[in-house]
Order: sequence, then structure tokens, then C-alpha cells
Amino acid sequence: MTSDKLLFTPGPLTTSATVKSAMLRDVGSREREFIETVREIRERLLAIGGSASPRSGGEHECVLMQGSGTFAIESVISSAIPRDGKLLVLVNGAYGRRIVQMARIHGIETETIETPENRRISPKAVAERLAASRGFTHVAVIHCETTTGIVNPIEEIGEVVESAAAVYIVDAMSSFGAIPVDLAAARIDFLISSANKCIEGVPGFGFVLARRSRLLEAKGRARTLSFDLYAQWAGLESDGQFRFTPPTHALLAFHQALLELEAEGGVAGRGARYGANHAALMRGVAKMGIEAYLAPDDQSSIITTFRYPEHPRFSFAEFYERLSQLGFVIYPGKLTAEPCFRIGTVGRLSPTDIEALLTAMRRVLEEMGAAPSVNAVM
Ligand SMILES: *Cc1c(COP(=O)(O)O)cnc(C)c1O
Repeated sequence: MTSDKLLFTPGPLTTSATVKSAMLRDVGSREREFIETVREIRERLLAIGGSASPRSGGEHECVLMQGSGTFAIESVISSAIPRDGKLLVLVNGAYGRRIVQMARIHGIETETIETPENRRISPKAVAERLAASRGFTHVAVIHCETTTGIVNPIEEIGEVVESAAAVYIVDAMSSFGAIPVDLAAARIDFLISSANKCIEGVPGFGFVLARRSRLLEAKGRARTLSFDLYAQWAGLESDGQFRFTPPTHALLAFHQALLELEAEGGVAGRGARYGANHAALMRGVAKMGIEAYLAPDDQSSIITTFRYPEHPRFSFAEFYERLSQLGFVIYPGKLTAEPCFRIGTVGRLSPTDIEALLTAMRRVLEEMGAAPSVNAVM
């Protein structure tokens, strides 16, 4: 196999050779083997969320949805909220804004609480808003806002949402599998994530962990055929099959990725590796005059946002291109207010890979004439 560039991005990510080779097969979507694989995937995902399988009394169900992560979020937003519902979206980054955008397209009455991108969402502010204006039926929040890498307090917000008797939707796209999430403790009604983030599968589908009672309420509410979350679930439950062509190869790879997650020690083991990656990154960049955007306490180990170095010779386009030529793919920024770039520390990467990236970054900054002078660093 040729060696691909390493992806220091929020996804798709670098995956293991074993995950990639698990999909070098053509399996029939109606074959028993495939149906069994899908069943096992759904059970394992519920277990990662701390929920027993529905057969053993768990309150949540797992629905797999073709497409990228956004498609799975849209299936929840467009299926779960009734015509007379009202959505409150808690926004501190681009992914929160994306939920607002999709809700408006579906004609859903939507309001927001806007929090600066470098601040966590305040559960108190949510409580005050829900108390001040009645009528919110649904509240949506992003767990790890990948725009910056900040982690929002989903358990505390969940308590507030439950007290207001609203339905709680959590986009845990970039955290699920690496940051512990307990569906019951956080009172989550709908959690959304996807195959190609912290579980380290390949792109092709997203998944929703949905409280069964809420899923049943969604029957007949969908605004589209393809994204009908209830119908997708009912199909999977009736014969174990997808309604429409499933991404068979991506599912085979994902099954292998779940086995590798378990072998690594589950969420705790994976979180520990990402933590080591992040720590190595922060130690290295500190010596390059590159400053993180978030305060360390708010920062996850998933992805880190950096301000551009102040050096007049620094150009992000050139920095990106030179690193890419050396085999390291980083990510542009997405902040509204400031120019920045991002480095992801997730996927099949180890601290050794981070050290290799840091070496390349030092070299590129020097070649660009943008390395900090010794005095500036001291
Ligand atoms: C990646 C991501 C998404 C969107 O996923 P796509 O697969 O790009 O559609 C949504 N929310 C968050 C928080 C993400 O990190």
C-alpha cells in the first residue's frame, strides 16, 4: 500500500490498514451476514452511549442513516420536531449555525442563544431563556464544537432542558467514541454522530441514538422521505435492512473500527491516546510562537484552533501547501472573528505522528522565513 498523507483534520480521518481492508469485499445487503453486522453495530453504538440494548431494557434505539454526519442531523431536525414545534439552538460555532440553517429550510420556528466562539454555553443562560419564553419544544446543542474544539457542558444543559420538559438533541459528531457520553445521565433524547470521526471508520453514514418514546412520537412527522428517521428505524427493526441502498463497504469497515475501539480500551483508551496526541502538540507549538485560541480548560483533545503566527512572512496558504507536500494535512479555520487554522489530533495517529508533524512545521516555518527569533521565544 502506498503511504497516504497523515490527516490532522476533523474528518475524514486517517484510519487503520485493518479498517480499510475490512471493506475490500462485496456483500449483499440482504444477506444474513450483512444483517448480522448491522445488528451488532447498532448494539455496540448503544453500549458506547451507556445504554443497554432495547432488548435488555435500554431506553434508546440506534438508527443508522446514509450520508455524511450532517444528513443524520437533518434527519433528526426534520423528523423529530412537529409542525407546531419550536426549536432553541445553542450556538457557539459553525455547526450550531448549520442546525439553525437546516431548521429554517424546513420551516421550523427557531431561535438561538448566541455565545462567543471561545466561550462554553452557559446552562444558566439556557435555563433563563427557557423560563422567560415558553413554547420551546426542542433544544439542540453541539457537544464538541469542532469550529474551535470547545466542549459544551451537555449534562448540565440536559438537566435544564429536562426541567423545561423539552426534547434534547445533541450533536456529538466529533466527540462520540472519545469523550464519554452517558445518554441517561445527560438526559439525551437524540444524539447524532458519524462513522468517520472518533470511531475511526470511513465516511458513508451517520447514526442517531434516540430515546424510543421520542422516536415513536416522530412517526408521520418527517418532512422528507429519505430522511424519515422513524421510517428508517422501523425498516431496520422489521427485517434488519436499510430502506434504500446501504453503504455496505463503509459498514464493514465500521464494524472493524468498533472492534479496534474495544481493543484500545473503549472510550477511555481512545480518549487517552487523543489526550497524549494533544499534549504533544501543545508542547511543540508553544516553542514556535503559535498560540492556541481557546483557554486550556475549555479545550478538548479532538481538535485545536491556533491563531496565525504574527510573523509578517507567515502565509497560511503556503504553510498548508508545504506541509501537505511533506505528507501532513492540516485544516483551515472556521472562526467568524479571526484568521486561524486547526490541527486535529484524532484518527489513527499517535504522539509519534504528532512529533513528525511538529518537525515538519518547524522546517516549513524556517523555509518560509517565518520562524520566531530565539529572543521572541524566550
Ligand atoms: C463533522 C461535524 C459535523 C458534520 O459532519 P459532516 O460529516 O461533514 O456532514 C457536524 N457537527 C459537528 C460537530 C462536526 O464535527
